[in-house]
Amino acid sequence: MKQEQIDALRYLPVRDQRLLIDGQWVSAASGQTLPVVSPIDGQPLCTLAAAGQADVDAAVAAARRSFESGVWSRMAPAERKRVLHRVADRIEAHQAELAVLGVRDNGTEIAMAWKAEPGSAAGSFRYYAECVDKVNGEIAPTPEGTLGLVHKEPVGVVGAIVPWNFPLMIGAWKIAPALAAGNSVVLKPSEDASLSLLRLAQLCLEAGLPPGVLSVVTGTGGTAGEALARHMDVDIVTFTGSGPVGRLLLKASAESNLKRVYLELGGKSPNIVFDDAPDLAHAAKVSAMGIYRNSGQVCVAGSRLLVQRSVHDEFVERLHHIAASLRVGDPLDVTTEIGAVGSARQLAKNLAAVHTAEQQGARLRVGGLAIHPVAGGSYMAPTLLEGVTPDMALAREEVFGPVLAVMPFDDEADAVRLANDTSYGLASAVWTGSLSRAHRMVRAIKAGVVHVNTYGGPDITVPLGGVRQSGNGHDKSMHALDKYLDLKTAWIQL
Ligand code: NAD
Repeated sequence: MKQEQIDALRYLPVRDQRLLIDGQWVSAASGQTLPVVSPIDGQPLCTLAAAGQADVDAAVAAARRSFESGVWSRMAPAERKRVLHRVADRIEAHQAELAVLGVRDNGTEIAMAWKAEPGSAAGSFRYYAECVDKVNGEIAPTPEGTLGLVHKEPVGVVGAIVPWNFPLMIGAWKIAPALAAGNSVVLKPSEDASLSLLRLAQLCLEAGLPPGVLSVVTGTGGTAGEALARHMDVDIVTFTGSGPVGRLLLKASAESNLKRVYLELGGKSPNIVFDDAPDLAHAAKVSAMGIYRNSGQVCVAGSRLLVQRSVHDEFVERLHHIAASLRVGDPLDVTTEIGAVGSARQLAKNLAAVHTAEQQGARLRVGGLAIHPVAGGSYMAPTLLEGVTPDMALAREEVFGPVLAVMPFDDEADAVRLANDTSYGLASAVWTGSLSRAHRMVRAIKAGVVHVNTYGGPDITVPLGGVRQSGNGHDKSMHALDKYLDLKTAWIQL
Protein backbone atom coordinates (compact mmCIF):
# COMPACT_ATOMS: atom_id res chain seq x y z
CA MET A 1 0.00 0.00 0.00
CA LYS A 2 1.74 3.17 -1.21
CA GLN A 3 0.62 6.76 -0.70
CA GLU A 4 0.91 7.47 -4.46
CA GLN A 5 -1.41 4.53 -5.20
CA ILE A 6 -4.00 5.96 -2.80
CA ASP A 7 -3.64 9.53 -4.05
CA ALA A 8 -4.26 8.37 -7.62
CA LEU A 9 -7.64 6.98 -6.54
CA ARG A 10 -8.90 9.29 -3.82
CA TYR A 11 -10.29 12.08 -6.00
CA LEU A 12 -11.81 9.95 -8.76
CA PRO A 13 -15.45 10.94 -9.32
CA VAL A 14 -17.94 8.38 -7.99
CA ARG A 15 -20.96 7.87 -10.19
CA ASP A 16 -24.48 7.82 -8.77
CA GLN A 17 -25.28 4.26 -7.72
CA ARG A 18 -28.09 1.92 -8.71
CA LEU A 19 -29.59 -1.29 -7.38
CA LEU A 20 -28.46 -4.70 -8.62
CA ILE A 21 -31.54 -6.82 -9.31
CA ASP A 22 -31.47 -10.00 -11.37
CA GLY A 23 -28.08 -9.11 -12.84
CA GLN A 24 -29.20 -5.64 -13.99
CA TRP A 25 -28.26 -2.24 -12.58
CA VAL A 26 -31.52 -0.33 -12.14
CA SER A 27 -32.85 2.81 -10.43
CA ALA A 28 -35.31 2.45 -7.56
CA ALA A 29 -38.86 2.00 -8.87
CA SER A 30 -39.82 5.19 -7.05
CA GLY A 31 -36.85 7.06 -8.54
CA GLN A 32 -35.84 8.07 -4.99
CA THR A 33 -32.21 8.52 -4.01
CA LEU A 34 -30.17 9.15 -0.85
CA PRO A 35 -27.10 11.41 -0.63
CA VAL A 36 -23.72 9.86 0.21
CA VAL A 37 -21.53 12.21 2.25
CA SER A 38 -17.90 11.42 3.06
CA PRO A 39 -17.07 11.60 6.78
CA ILE A 40 -13.52 12.59 5.75
CA ASP A 41 -14.53 16.14 4.82
CA GLY A 42 -18.33 16.25 4.84
CA GLN A 43 -18.43 16.56 1.05
CA PRO A 44 -21.03 14.77 -1.11
CA LEU A 45 -19.69 11.76 -3.01
CA CYS A 46 -22.68 10.51 -5.04
CA THR A 47 -26.21 9.24 -4.47
CA LEU A 48 -27.60 5.79 -3.67
CA ALA A 49 -30.82 4.40 -5.08
CA ALA A 50 -33.35 4.22 -2.23
CA ALA A 51 -35.00 0.83 -2.63
CA GLY A 52 -38.64 0.44 -1.59
CA GLN A 53 -41.00 -2.48 -1.29
CA ALA A 54 -41.29 -2.98 -5.08
CA ASP A 55 -37.51 -3.19 -5.50
CA VAL A 56 -37.10 -5.61 -2.61
CA ASP A 57 -39.95 -7.72 -4.03
CA ALA A 58 -38.17 -7.81 -7.41
CA ALA A 59 -34.82 -8.75 -5.84
CA VAL A 60 -36.36 -11.52 -3.72
CA ALA A 61 -38.31 -12.85 -6.74
CA ALA A 62 -35.07 -12.96 -8.76
CA ALA A 63 -33.32 -14.73 -5.90
CA ARG A 64 -36.11 -17.29 -5.65
CA ARG A 65 -36.14 -17.89 -9.43
CA SER A 66 -32.40 -18.37 -9.54
CA PHE A 67 -32.53 -20.69 -6.54
CA GLU A 68 -35.30 -22.90 -7.89
CA SER A 69 -33.73 -23.02 -11.35
CA GLY A 70 -30.67 -24.71 -9.86
CA VAL A 71 -28.35 -22.47 -11.88
CA TRP A 72 -26.30 -21.98 -8.70
CA SER A 73 -27.89 -24.19 -6.03
CA ARG A 74 -27.36 -27.34 -8.11
CA MET A 75 -24.22 -26.27 -9.98
CA ALA A 76 -21.48 -28.90 -9.61
CA PRO A 77 -19.61 -28.07 -6.38
CA ALA A 78 -16.25 -27.95 -8.15
CA GLU A 79 -17.62 -25.31 -10.54
CA ARG A 80 -19.20 -23.25 -7.73
CA LYS A 81 -15.86 -23.37 -6.00
CA ARG A 82 -14.13 -22.00 -9.11
CA VAL A 83 -16.55 -19.06 -9.30
CA LEU A 84 -15.95 -18.12 -5.65
CA HIS A 85 -12.18 -18.33 -6.17
CA ARG A 86 -12.57 -16.03 -9.18
CA VAL A 87 -14.44 -13.54 -6.96
CA ALA A 88 -11.47 -13.62 -4.56
CA ASP A 89 -9.06 -13.10 -7.48
CA ARG A 90 -11.02 -10.04 -8.59
CA ILE A 91 -11.15 -8.56 -5.08
CA GLU A 92 -7.38 -8.93 -4.86
CA ALA A 93 -6.89 -7.39 -8.28
CA HIS A 94 -9.02 -4.39 -7.20
CA GLN A 95 -7.75 -4.17 -3.62
CA ALA A 96 -6.58 -0.55 -3.79
CA GLU A 97 -9.72 0.66 -5.55
CA LEU A 98 -12.03 -1.13 -3.07
CA ALA A 99 -10.07 0.03 -0.03
CA VAL A 100 -9.98 3.70 -1.08
CA LEU A 101 -13.65 3.72 -2.13
CA GLY A 102 -14.66 2.19 1.19
CA VAL A 103 -12.59 4.69 3.20
CA ARG A 104 -14.08 7.62 1.29
CA ASP A 105 -17.48 6.24 2.29
CA ASN A 106 -16.92 5.37 5.99
CA GLY A 107 -13.67 7.02 7.13
CA THR A 108 -11.71 4.00 8.48
CA GLU A 109 -7.94 4.62 8.49
CA ILE A 110 -6.55 3.15 5.27
CA ALA A 111 -3.82 1.13 6.97
CA MET A 112 -6.52 -0.86 8.69
CA ALA A 113 -9.12 -0.84 5.90
CA TRP A 114 -6.61 -2.20 3.38
CA LYS A 115 -6.27 -5.49 5.26
CA ALA A 116 -9.59 -5.61 7.10
CA GLU A 117 -11.78 -4.77 4.13
CA PRO A 118 -10.77 -6.09 0.66
CA GLY A 119 -7.95 -8.14 2.17
CA SER A 120 -10.26 -9.95 4.55
CA ALA A 121 -13.13 -10.20 2.04
CA ALA A 122 -10.87 -11.95 -0.49
CA GLY A 123 -9.74 -14.33 2.26
CA SER A 124 -13.34 -15.14 3.18
CA PHE A 125 -14.31 -15.92 -0.42
CA ARG A 126 -11.26 -18.21 -0.72
CA TYR A 127 -11.98 -19.95 2.57
CA TYR A 128 -15.62 -20.67 1.67
CA ALA A 129 -14.71 -21.55 -1.93
CA GLU A 130 -12.62 -24.34 -0.41
CA CYS A 131 -15.56 -25.49 1.71
CA VAL A 132 -17.97 -25.97 -1.19
CA ASP A 133 -16.94 -29.54 -2.01
CA LYS A 134 -16.28 -30.57 1.59
CA VAL A 135 -19.81 -30.38 2.96
CA ASN A 136 -20.58 -34.05 3.41
CA GLY A 137 -23.86 -35.55 4.55
CA GLU A 138 -24.06 -38.34 7.14
CA ILE A 139 -25.08 -41.98 7.38
CA ALA A 140 -26.66 -42.57 10.78
CA PRO A 141 -25.87 -45.70 12.91
CA THR A 142 -29.36 -47.20 12.44
CA PRO A 143 -30.60 -50.78 13.19
CA GLU A 144 -30.19 -53.60 10.70
CA GLY A 145 -32.65 -53.31 7.79
CA THR A 146 -32.87 -49.51 7.83
CA LEU A 147 -30.77 -46.73 6.38
CA GLY A 148 -30.75 -43.19 7.77
CA LEU A 149 -29.20 -40.58 5.52
CA VAL A 150 -28.74 -36.95 6.53
CA HIS A 151 -28.60 -34.60 3.56
CA LYS A 152 -27.34 -31.03 3.84
CA GLU A 153 -29.20 -28.68 1.54
CA PRO A 154 -29.12 -24.94 0.88
CA VAL A 155 -32.02 -23.20 2.59
CA GLY A 156 -33.11 -20.90 -0.24
CA VAL A 157 -33.21 -17.10 -0.17
CA VAL A 158 -30.95 -15.33 2.33
CA GLY A 159 -31.45 -11.66 3.24
CA ALA A 160 -28.17 -10.19 4.51
CA ILE A 161 -28.34 -6.86 6.36
CA VAL A 162 -24.99 -5.34 7.29
CA PRO A 163 -23.59 -2.26 9.09
CA TRP A 164 -21.24 0.53 8.04
CA ASN A 165 -18.15 -0.05 10.15
CA PHE A 166 -16.53 -2.85 8.06
CA PRO A 167 -18.94 -3.31 5.14
CA LEU A 168 -16.76 -5.52 2.93
CA MET A 169 -15.42 -7.72 5.70
CA ILE A 170 -18.79 -8.28 7.35
CA GLY A 171 -20.60 -8.49 4.01
CA ALA A 172 -18.22 -11.22 2.87
CA TRP A 173 -18.60 -13.09 6.19
CA LYS A 174 -22.26 -13.52 5.22
CA ILE A 175 -22.33 -13.59 1.42
CA ALA A 176 -19.46 -16.06 0.96
CA PRO A 177 -20.73 -18.91 3.19
CA ALA A 178 -24.35 -18.35 2.08
CA LEU A 179 -23.30 -18.68 -1.57
CA ALA A 180 -20.90 -21.54 -0.84
CA ALA A 181 -23.83 -23.47 0.64
CA GLY A 182 -25.77 -22.90 -2.61
CA ASN A 183 -28.22 -20.19 -1.55
CA SER A 184 -29.25 -17.02 -3.38
CA VAL A 185 -28.66 -13.76 -1.49
CA VAL A 186 -30.30 -10.34 -1.33
CA LEU A 187 -27.89 -7.92 0.35
CA LYS A 188 -28.96 -4.72 2.13
CA PRO A 189 -25.84 -2.68 2.93
CA SER A 190 -25.91 0.22 5.38
CA GLU A 191 -27.02 3.53 3.90
CA ASP A 192 -23.82 4.92 5.51
CA ALA A 193 -21.45 2.57 3.63
CA SER A 194 -22.76 0.88 0.48
CA LEU A 195 -20.20 1.78 -2.15
CA SER A 196 -17.59 -0.96 -1.74
CA LEU A 197 -20.31 -3.65 -1.50
CA LEU A 198 -21.92 -2.43 -4.74
CA ARG A 199 -18.50 -2.71 -6.38
CA LEU A 200 -18.07 -6.20 -4.91
CA ALA A 201 -21.39 -7.24 -6.45
CA GLN A 202 -20.15 -6.09 -9.86
CA LEU A 203 -16.98 -8.15 -9.37
CA CYS A 204 -19.13 -11.19 -8.48
CA LEU A 205 -21.01 -10.84 -11.79
CA GLU A 206 -17.72 -10.54 -13.68
CA ALA A 207 -16.48 -13.68 -11.91
CA GLY A 208 -19.43 -15.66 -13.31
CA LEU A 209 -21.98 -15.62 -10.51
CA PRO A 210 -25.29 -16.15 -12.37
CA PRO A 211 -27.76 -13.21 -12.47
CA GLY A 212 -30.20 -13.10 -9.55
CA VAL A 213 -27.98 -15.18 -7.24
CA LEU A 214 -26.71 -11.98 -5.58
CA SER A 215 -28.84 -8.84 -5.65
CA VAL A 216 -28.11 -5.60 -3.78
CA VAL A 217 -30.85 -3.30 -2.50
CA THR A 218 -29.47 -0.09 -1.04
CA GLY A 219 -31.60 2.29 0.98
CA THR A 220 -32.70 3.03 4.50
CA GLY A 221 -33.09 0.40 7.17
CA GLY A 222 -36.63 1.47 7.94
CA THR A 223 -37.75 0.91 4.33
CA ALA A 224 -35.45 -1.46 2.38
CA GLY A 225 -34.26 -3.36 5.48
CA GLU A 226 -37.73 -3.67 6.92
CA ALA A 227 -39.14 -4.90 3.57
CA LEU A 228 -36.51 -7.65 3.48
CA ALA A 229 -37.06 -8.57 7.13
CA ARG A 230 -40.83 -8.89 6.62
CA HIS A 231 -40.70 -10.59 3.24
CA MET A 232 -42.73 -13.80 3.07
CA ASP A 233 -40.30 -15.42 0.62
CA VAL A 234 -37.03 -14.79 2.47
CA ASP A 235 -35.93 -17.90 4.37
CA ILE A 236 -33.15 -16.44 6.50
CA VAL A 237 -32.15 -12.99 7.68
CA THR A 238 -28.50 -12.80 8.64
CA PHE A 239 -27.76 -9.52 10.37
CA THR A 240 -24.90 -7.57 11.86
CA GLY A 241 -25.76 -4.32 13.60
CA SER A 242 -27.22 -2.83 16.73
CA GLY A 243 -29.33 -4.54 19.40
CA PRO A 244 -32.43 -2.38 18.87
CA VAL A 245 -32.54 -3.28 15.16
CA GLY A 246 -31.90 -6.94 16.04
CA ARG A 247 -35.06 -6.87 18.16
CA LEU A 248 -37.04 -5.38 15.25
CA LEU A 249 -35.84 -8.21 13.01
CA LEU A 250 -37.03 -10.88 15.45
CA LYS A 251 -40.40 -9.12 15.62
CA ALA A 252 -40.58 -8.89 11.82
CA SER A 253 -39.89 -12.61 11.57
CA ALA A 254 -42.57 -13.43 14.13
CA GLU A 255 -45.07 -11.24 12.29
CA SER A 256 -44.25 -12.63 8.83
CA ASN A 257 -43.07 -16.14 7.91
CA LEU A 258 -40.98 -17.14 10.97
CA LYS A 259 -37.80 -16.87 8.92
CA ARG A 260 -34.61 -17.74 10.76
CA VAL A 261 -32.90 -14.65 12.16
CA TYR A 262 -29.17 -14.71 12.95
CA LEU A 263 -27.95 -11.73 14.93
CA GLU A 264 -24.42 -10.39 15.40
CA LEU A 265 -24.94 -7.41 17.70
CA GLY A 266 -22.98 -5.03 19.85
CA GLY A 267 -20.88 -5.43 22.95
CA LYS A 268 -19.33 -3.80 25.99
CA SER A 269 -16.33 -6.04 26.02
CA PRO A 270 -14.08 -6.30 29.11
CA ASN A 271 -10.31 -6.11 28.68
CA ILE A 272 -8.83 -7.43 31.94
CA VAL A 273 -5.29 -6.64 33.01
CA PHE A 274 -3.83 -8.58 35.95
CA ASP A 275 -0.74 -7.43 37.80
CA ASP A 276 1.12 -10.56 36.63
CA ALA A 277 0.73 -9.59 32.94
CA PRO A 278 4.09 -10.35 31.31
CA ASP A 279 4.67 -6.95 29.70
CA LEU A 280 2.53 -4.01 30.79
CA ALA A 281 3.97 -1.68 28.14
CA HIS A 282 2.97 -4.10 25.39
CA ALA A 283 -0.43 -4.73 27.01
CA ALA A 284 -1.09 -0.97 27.10
CA LYS A 285 -0.15 -0.54 23.45
CA VAL A 286 -2.35 -3.40 22.24
CA SER A 287 -5.21 -2.43 24.59
CA ALA A 288 -5.16 1.12 23.18
CA MET A 289 -5.58 -0.18 19.64
CA GLY A 290 -8.19 -2.65 20.92
CA ILE A 291 -10.44 0.31 21.68
CA TYR A 292 -9.26 3.18 19.47
CA ARG A 293 -8.72 1.61 16.00
CA ASN A 294 -11.40 2.59 13.49
CA SER A 295 -12.36 5.29 16.04
CA GLY A 296 -13.78 2.58 18.33
CA GLN A 297 -16.32 1.53 15.70
CA VAL A 298 -15.53 -2.13 16.15
CA CYS A 299 -18.11 -4.54 17.55
CA VAL A 300 -15.48 -6.40 19.58
CA ALA A 301 -13.77 -3.21 20.86
CA GLY A 302 -12.40 -3.60 24.39
CA SER A 303 -14.42 -0.68 25.71
CA ARG A 304 -14.28 -1.61 29.42
CA LEU A 305 -10.77 -1.76 30.80
CA LEU A 306 -10.59 -3.64 34.11
CA VAL A 307 -7.20 -3.19 35.79
CA GLN A 308 -5.96 -4.84 38.96
CA ARG A 309 -5.66 -2.15 41.62
CA SER A 310 -1.93 -2.75 42.25
CA VAL A 311 -1.04 -1.71 38.67
CA HIS A 312 -4.04 0.54 37.96
CA ASP A 313 -2.34 3.94 38.17
CA GLU A 314 0.74 2.84 36.23
CA PHE A 315 -1.35 1.23 33.48
CA VAL A 316 -3.73 4.18 33.15
CA GLU A 317 -0.75 6.52 32.93
CA ARG A 318 0.69 4.45 30.06
CA LEU A 319 -2.66 4.42 28.25
CA HIS A 320 -3.11 8.14 28.76
CA HIS A 321 0.24 8.73 27.11
CA ILE A 322 -0.57 6.45 24.15
CA ALA A 323 -4.08 7.90 23.64
CA ALA A 324 -2.72 11.45 23.64
CA SER A 325 -0.04 10.61 21.08
CA LEU A 326 -2.09 8.65 18.51
CA ARG A 327 -2.20 10.37 15.11
CA VAL A 328 -5.85 11.11 14.33
CA GLY A 329 -6.34 12.50 10.86
CA ASP A 330 -7.04 12.07 7.18
CA PRO A 331 -7.90 8.37 6.85
CA LEU A 332 -6.37 8.27 3.38
CA ASP A 333 -2.93 9.22 4.71
CA VAL A 334 -0.96 6.00 5.23
CA THR A 335 0.62 7.36 8.43
CA THR A 336 -2.73 8.07 10.10
CA GLU A 337 -3.39 5.79 13.06
CA ILE A 338 -7.04 6.74 13.69
CA GLY A 339 -9.34 7.93 10.91
CA ALA A 340 -12.73 9.61 10.88
CA VAL A 341 -15.83 8.81 12.89
CA GLY A 342 -18.41 7.23 10.52
CA SER A 343 -20.84 10.16 10.55
CA ALA A 344 -21.55 13.48 12.24
CA ARG A 345 -24.48 11.71 13.94
CA GLN A 346 -22.18 9.08 15.49
CA LEU A 347 -19.74 11.79 16.64
CA ALA A 348 -22.54 13.63 18.45
CA LYS A 349 -23.54 10.33 20.14
CA ASN A 350 -19.95 9.73 21.30
CA LEU A 351 -19.62 13.22 22.79
CA ALA A 352 -22.97 12.88 24.55
CA ALA A 353 -21.84 9.59 26.14
CA VAL A 354 -18.71 11.28 27.53
CA HIS A 355 -20.75 14.18 28.85
CA THR A 356 -23.19 11.84 30.62
CA ALA A 357 -20.34 9.83 32.14
CA GLU A 358 -18.75 13.01 33.54
CA GLN A 359 -22.09 14.10 34.97
CA GLN A 360 -22.39 10.68 36.65
CA GLY A 361 -18.98 11.12 38.29
CA ALA A 362 -16.39 9.59 35.91
CA ARG A 363 -13.12 11.53 35.50
CA LEU A 364 -12.02 12.46 31.99
CA ARG A 365 -8.27 11.79 31.70
CA VAL A 366 -7.78 12.50 28.02
CA GLY A 367 -9.78 13.27 24.87
CA GLY A 368 -13.52 13.78 25.12
CA LEU A 369 -13.72 16.29 22.29
CA ALA A 370 -14.24 16.61 18.56
CA ILE A 371 -11.12 17.60 16.61
CA HIS A 372 -10.70 18.97 13.10
CA PRO A 373 -7.66 17.57 11.28
CA VAL A 374 -9.62 17.84 7.99
CA ALA A 375 -12.11 20.67 7.57
CA GLY A 376 -15.73 19.54 7.43
CA GLY A 377 -14.99 15.98 8.64
CA SER A 378 -15.99 14.08 11.80
CA TYR A 379 -13.10 13.19 14.12
CA MET A 380 -12.79 12.48 17.81
CA ALA A 381 -9.76 12.47 20.10
CA PRO A 382 -9.09 9.06 21.74
CA THR A 383 -10.82 9.30 25.08
CA LEU A 384 -10.21 7.70 28.47
CA LEU A 385 -12.38 8.06 31.56
CA GLU A 386 -11.41 6.62 34.93
CA GLY A 387 -13.41 6.13 38.09
CA VAL A 388 -16.20 4.51 36.12
CA THR A 389 -18.55 2.43 38.27
CA PRO A 390 -20.67 -0.53 37.14
CA ASP A 391 -23.93 1.40 37.46
CA MET A 392 -22.88 4.18 35.04
CA ALA A 393 -24.23 4.22 31.49
CA LEU A 394 -20.63 4.17 30.23
CA ALA A 395 -20.09 0.79 31.90
CA ARG A 396 -23.30 -0.68 30.53
CA GLU A 397 -24.13 0.79 27.12
CA GLU A 398 -22.19 0.45 23.89
CA VAL A 399 -20.88 3.81 22.65
CA PHE A 400 -19.33 2.61 19.37
CA GLY A 401 -16.73 5.35 19.58
CA PRO A 402 -13.12 5.86 20.78
CA VAL A 403 -14.17 6.00 24.42
CA LEU A 404 -12.56 3.79 27.06
CA ALA A 405 -14.11 3.25 30.51
CA VAL A 406 -11.57 2.22 33.18
CA MET A 407 -12.48 0.37 36.37
CA PRO A 408 -10.20 -1.13 39.06
CA PHE A 409 -10.57 -4.64 40.52
CA ASP A 410 -9.02 -6.42 43.50
CA ASP A 411 -8.67 -10.10 42.65
CA GLU A 412 -9.67 -12.76 40.13
CA ALA A 413 -13.17 -13.25 41.54
CA ASP A 414 -13.75 -9.50 41.45
CA ALA A 415 -12.53 -9.35 37.83
CA VAL A 416 -14.92 -12.14 36.78
CA ARG A 417 -17.83 -10.49 38.58
CA LEU A 418 -17.21 -7.12 36.87
CA ALA A 419 -16.52 -8.70 33.47
CA ASN A 420 -19.81 -10.58 33.47
CA ASP A 421 -21.83 -7.68 34.90
CA THR A 422 -23.25 -6.78 31.50
CA SER A 423 -26.14 -7.76 29.27
CA TYR A 424 -23.67 -8.34 26.42
CA GLY A 425 -21.28 -11.21 25.69
CA LEU A 426 -19.29 -10.59 22.53
CA ALA A 427 -15.54 -10.33 23.17
CA SER A 428 -13.08 -10.00 26.06
CA ALA A 429 -9.38 -10.26 26.89
CA VAL A 430 -7.22 -11.38 29.77
CA TRP A 431 -3.63 -10.27 30.30
CA THR A 432 -1.76 -12.59 32.67
CA GLY A 433 1.49 -14.53 32.96
CA SER A 434 -0.29 -17.46 34.59
CA LEU A 435 -1.42 -20.25 32.27
CA SER A 436 -3.78 -21.62 34.92
CA ARG A 437 -5.40 -18.25 35.48
CA ALA A 438 -5.75 -17.74 31.73
CA HIS A 439 -7.65 -21.02 31.37
CA ARG A 440 -9.80 -20.31 34.42
CA MET A 441 -10.74 -16.93 32.98
CA VAL A 442 -11.52 -18.39 29.55
CA ARG A 443 -14.05 -20.65 31.25
CA ALA A 444 -15.45 -17.99 33.57
CA ILE A 445 -16.05 -15.15 31.13
CA LYS A 446 -19.41 -15.12 29.36
CA ALA A 447 -18.41 -14.05 25.85
CA GLY A 448 -18.03 -15.44 22.36
CA VAL A 449 -14.31 -14.65 22.22
CA VAL A 450 -11.70 -14.52 25.00
CA HIS A 451 -8.32 -13.17 23.89
CA VAL A 452 -5.33 -14.06 26.03
CA ASN A 453 -2.38 -11.63 26.10
CA THR A 454 -3.58 -9.90 22.95
CA TYR A 455 -6.60 -8.02 21.64
CA GLY A 456 -8.05 -8.61 18.18
CA GLY A 457 -6.74 -10.67 15.33
CA PRO A 458 -8.73 -13.95 15.29
CA ASP A 459 -8.80 -15.04 11.67
CA ILE A 460 -11.40 -16.67 9.41
CA THR A 461 -10.66 -20.16 10.81
CA VAL A 462 -12.41 -19.43 14.14
CA PRO A 463 -16.05 -18.47 14.78
CA LEU A 464 -17.22 -15.01 15.84
CA GLY A 465 -20.52 -14.79 17.63
CA GLY A 466 -22.02 -13.37 20.75
CA VAL A 467 -23.82 -14.82 23.74
CA ARG A 468 -26.55 -13.12 25.79
CA GLN A 469 -27.67 -9.87 24.09
CA SER A 470 -24.71 -9.84 21.70
CA GLY A 471 -26.53 -12.23 19.38
CA ASN A 472 -26.81 -15.82 18.22
CA GLY A 473 -25.16 -17.94 15.57
CA HIS A 474 -21.66 -17.43 14.22
CA ASP A 475 -19.90 -15.75 11.34
CA LYS A 476 -16.56 -17.13 10.11
CA SER A 477 -15.16 -20.67 10.24
CA MET A 478 -16.86 -23.87 9.03
CA HIS A 479 -19.58 -23.25 11.67
CA ALA A 480 -20.94 -20.30 9.64
CA LEU A 481 -22.00 -22.74 6.92
CA ASP A 482 -24.45 -24.39 9.31
CA LYS A 483 -26.57 -21.24 9.31
CA TYR A 484 -27.17 -21.51 5.60
CA LEU A 485 -27.84 -25.26 5.36
CA ASP A 486 -30.91 -27.34 6.16
CA LEU A 487 -30.67 -30.93 7.36
CA LYS A 488 -32.97 -33.41 5.64
CA THR A 489 -33.40 -36.99 6.82
CA ALA A 490 -34.00 -39.86 4.43
CA TRP A 491 -35.24 -42.91 6.40
CA ILE A 492 -35.16 -45.99 4.23
CA GLN A 493 -36.54 -49.46 4.93
CA LEU A 494 -34.23 -51.88 3.17
P1 NAD B 1 -27.70 -0.53 12.76
O1 NAD B 1 -28.37 -1.59 13.54
O2 NAD B 1 -28.18 0.87 12.90
O3 NAD B 1 -27.80 -0.86 11.18
C1 NAD B 1 -27.36 -2.08 10.65
C2 NAD B 1 -28.12 -2.37 9.37
O4 NAD B 1 -29.50 -2.54 9.69
C3 NAD B 1 -28.06 -1.24 8.34
O5 NAD B 1 -27.97 -1.79 7.05
C4 NAD B 1 -29.39 -0.55 8.53
O6 NAD B 1 -29.84 0.12 7.37
C5 NAD B 1 -30.29 -1.74 8.84
N1 NAD B 1 -31.54 -1.39 9.54
C6 NAD B 1 -31.78 -0.32 10.34
N2 NAD B 1 -33.07 -0.34 10.76
C7 NAD B 1 -33.65 -1.44 10.22
C8 NAD B 1 -34.95 -2.01 10.28
N3 NAD B 1 -35.92 -1.43 10.97
N4 NAD B 1 -35.18 -3.16 9.62
C9 NAD B 1 -34.20 -3.77 8.91
N5 NAD B 1 -32.94 -3.26 8.80
C10 NAD B 1 -32.67 -2.11 9.45
O7 NAD B 1 -26.14 -0.67 13.08
P2 NAD B 1 -24.93 0.21 12.54
O8 NAD B 1 -25.01 1.55 13.20
O9 NAD B 1 -24.87 0.15 11.06
O10 NAD B 1 -23.68 -0.62 13.10
C11 NAD B 1 -23.23 -0.50 14.39
C12 NAD B 1 -23.71 -1.63 15.26
O11 NAD B 1 -23.34 -2.87 14.68
C13 NAD B 1 -23.06 -1.62 16.62
O12 NAD B 1 -24.00 -1.94 17.61
C14 NAD B 1 -22.01 -2.72 16.52
O13 NAD B 1 -21.60 -3.28 17.74
C15 NAD B 1 -22.70 -3.69 15.65
N6 NAD B 1 -21.74 -4.61 15.03
C16 NAD B 1 -21.70 -5.91 15.43
C17 NAD B 1 -20.76 -6.81 14.88
C18 NAD B 1 -20.68 -8.26 15.30
O14 NAD B 1 -20.04 -9.06 14.62
N7 NAD B 1 -21.30 -8.66 16.40
C19 NAD B 1 -19.88 -6.34 13.90
C20 NAD B 1 -19.95 -5.00 13.52
C21 NAD B 1 -20.89 -4.15 14.08
